[in-house]
Amino acid sequence: MLLQEFPKFLLENVGKNDCYANATFQSVFRVIPLVKYLLKHGDYLTTHKTELVKRYEDHHDTLTRRLEAEISRTLERSPRDDPQTALLWETLVLLSEAEQQKAKRGKGKGKKKAKEEHTLAVRAESMYTTLVRSSVDSVIGRMEDAHAARECLLENLHCELVAASELARTRHTDAPRDLTLQQAGTDMSKRTAVSDISRGELKSTVTCDECGHVSITDREATWSLSVQIPAAVVDLTEETGQQPSADGRECVQSFFKPEELKGREQYFCERCGHKCNATKRLSMATVPPALCNETHVLLPEELDVSPYAQKQTEGHILTSVIEHRGSSLHSGHYVEYHRHIAPNGQSKWLVFDDQVNIIEEVSLDFVLQHQAYMATYVQPNALAAVSPPELAEAPADGPDAAQPAASKKVANRCQHIP
Ligand SMILES: [Zn+2]
Repeated sequence: MLLQEFPKFLLENVGKNDCYANATFQSVFRVIPLVKYLLKHGDYLTTHKTELVKRYEDHHDTLTRRLEAEISRTLERSPRDDPQTALLWETLVLLSEAEQQKAKRGKGKGKKKAKEEHTLAVRAESMYTTLVRSSVDSVIGRMEDAHAARECLLENLHCELVAASELARTRHTDAPRDLTLQQAGTDMSKRTAVSDISRGELKSTVTCDECGHVSITDREATWSLSVQIPAAVVDLTEETGQQPSADGRECVQSFFKPEELKGREQYFCERCGHKCNATKRLSMATVPPALCNETHVLLPEELDVSPYAQKQTEGHILTSVIEHRGSSLHSGHYVEYHRHIAPNGQSKWLVFDDQVNIIEEVSLDFVLQHQAYMATYVQPNALAAVSPPELAEAPADGPDAAQPAASKKVANRCQHIP
């Protein structure tokens, strides 16, 4: 149930090398609990749009200001001409529009309906522009890295949701209500639907080989694992001149491979009071229900990260693959493959390619043959159990504050604030 329901919408290419953004949106916004959460809180976010937009605008340069800085002169167009918006708001508008289009198409009958279902296209130009604004290194019209775009999207949505939830919490109190997006991002204790679903935590520990003392050296939140072909395999193939290739599971294993600290790398053990040989291990302190791997390897359909997690965890299944065709990250083309589960429980793979503007069915083998640039795996049960904090106001407004999906209302109000 979790992976179906949402419309198989295709984001239209707006001719600005935006396929990387479309592939990213398509991959992220097919994680149903996230979409449902955002639509469920549509009313709340609409009510607080002005404050959301203000926080976003305070934190991000307008495109005009950025362009001015780049070419060091004052442009005729004033920064005020740039639409005032927020990434969270644009997301809500995009999802609402896709849902509305689905509802409209659903009213069609028979063959016509079946045919049209495969060409449901949504234009995401405003969302794309806002994503570019959210990332300091991105430029309109230039092909960017889909992985960086995903991180930027999730980080921003998370921060904006933290700020939105603070608004709710402090609405009827005297607490200061000027939490900036930067502050929202630095407080790791803050949870949102985005972090509950997609954010993992990596923990580094060092174990002294002499006394067994374990010290935690680092904890780091992460939106993805960077699973690459092990260096040893690359070295070997450089000698033979072949293309390096490795099994996806071996690459994951290699990512978490313990590192021996000896010789010059010896570790100072607090308990022993001197430098000792030690073993450094990386593990997952938090395994996200939707785990993304940034990778360049052939990946398996199922992935079990239990051996690298702090506690037993449900296996992940592959649901989305982003393929990058081309030699450089600033050129080529991105497409997204997605597992779609029909109401009868059967799953099939669809390819979303905004260059040909069509959604086509492909085989699982076809998907697995391609080296994934990014691959998302989900734990169906853990994902179903995700229960992020609700965006609801404290008692004064009562439980009615968080009303169910009001997508129509949102889309009707999607004009930018003047
Ligand atoms: Zn020791």
